[in-house]
Amino acid sequence: MWFRRDLRLHDNKGLYHALKQGNVQPIFIFDSNILSKLTKSDKRVSIIYAELEKIQKTLSKYNASLKVFHGEPVEIFSSELEKTFPNIKALYCNGDYEPYARERDKKVKDVLAKKGITFNDFKDHVIFEKDEVLNQESSPYGVFTPYSKTWKAKLEKEHYKEYPSQDILENFTSSKYELPSLSSIGFDRVEVNYTKSLPAQQKLASYPDKRDYPAQEGTTQVSVALRFGMISIRELVRKALKENAGKYLDELIWRDFYQMILWHHPHVKDRSYKAKYDAIEWENKEQHFEFWCRGETGVPIVDAGMRELNTTGYMHNRVRMIVASFLVKNLLVDWRWGEAYFAEKLLDFDLASNNGGWQWAAGSGCDAAPYFRVFNPITQAQKFDPEMKYIKKWVPEIANGQYKAPIVDIKSSRLRALDRYKQGLDRN
Ligand code: FAD
Repeated sequence: MWFRRDLRLHDNKGLYHALKQGNVQPIFIFDSNILSKLTKSDKRVSIIYAELEKIQKTLSKYNASLKVFHGEPVEIFSSELEKTFPNIKALYCNGDYEPYARERDKKVKDVLAKKGITFNDFKDHVIFEKDEVLNQESSPYGVFTPYSKTWKAKLEKEHYKEYPSQDILENFTSSKYELPSLSSIGFDRVEVNYTKSLPAQQKLASYPDKRDYPAQEGTTQVSVALRFGMISIRELVRKALKENAGKYLDELIWRDFYQMILWHHPHVKDRSYKAKYDAIEWENKEQHFEFWCRGETGVPIVDAGMRELNTTGYMHNRVRMIVASFLVKNLLVDWRWGEAYFAEKLLDFDLASNNGGWQWAAGSGCDAAPYFRVFNPITQAQKFDPEMKYIKKWVPEIANGQYKAPIVDIKSSRLRALDRYKQGLDRN
């Protein structure tokens, strides 16, 4: 069983099917293709490591252990795997829909096929994958609302039932491998706090009213655990249905939606979902981008959000939308720059949701609204942070009048964006 973005022993579909066969050796690979792009204090590596330690501890009760590799996965499956496990018959894992992972898995599958080893991947990361939710013309949806209607109409118990892998852990094979140290793979250990449990009933009950107000901590903060798989999407959906939390379920459907978009349209990784938006001429002023990254734009809610991100690795969803709109529209900086900055900083970074969120903000993605919706960061702050609690937390200097003037005029930069977008689209 190859663990990837499913770092849990409970309700794990791939693991469940593997354990049903018996004699399972769990493995994890610190993928050098991914790690080589990160700094040595990247908090996400520490999160993964801490979860592997937790898994290792549980496995030891069953005289089992994780074998952890460090290197290039295709290479490892080509040369090291059989040396370590000469009797391997089959590889089990859960599907990953990112372009890199798909390519990697295809190569791994080919390598294994030549050795007579089967590659078995399962749908675990989402409720519906690939072609499971299509429109009446049997094409993938490009707009969320009709997608979510079909998603809900199709949903049956079968889709969110539990796969009780936790009940058959004795089917692991005996082994006594040690985890390599973090330093041996080139990383520092960093303490990170993130939510690991399912949201409480009270949280879900107040979610529709509180979710848009960053000072109220009204969202469930499960994104990190969902990203790395410490929580299963099925248990979260079961919880949402049990508590009748319809609005919350909608947000989980957004997650499925963006995974589906990335799977059908892998080009979104580098280009606009709607090709004509690639013709927009960006200003791309490096100094403006740096001010934005540091939270020094002189626009309070934008600076608060960016400072929250830089300090904690998290940013509230409403604020993500505001800072993204500000960068792309008011500063006319290419959405890919913002996307890459979020990818570097977010603990919950997920290519599909991040790309979807950025393209939504840029107007180039899956959105029914036209590009001329430009968030006004001042009125957004008045509406969603009326007492300025969130802003004062992250931009304390605002209280003593030492705060800088905005780096662009909100009104005229909005008009410039509309004009630039129109020119780009007309040219196309
Ligand atoms: P809750 O509101 O409690 O929602 C529960 C879960 O539903 C989330 O954890 C997430 O898995 C899912 N969800 C909620 N909103 C969205 C959404 N709009 N799109 C997709 N899934 C959603 N989410 C990520 O997980 N990783 C990212 O890299 C990411 N980048 C984003 C970038 C931008 C520009 C924007 C606008 C949004 C981005 N999101 C991303 C979506 C959303 O902001 C986060 O999922 C959410 O803020 C996480 O906090 P939470 O768990 O408290 O959310």
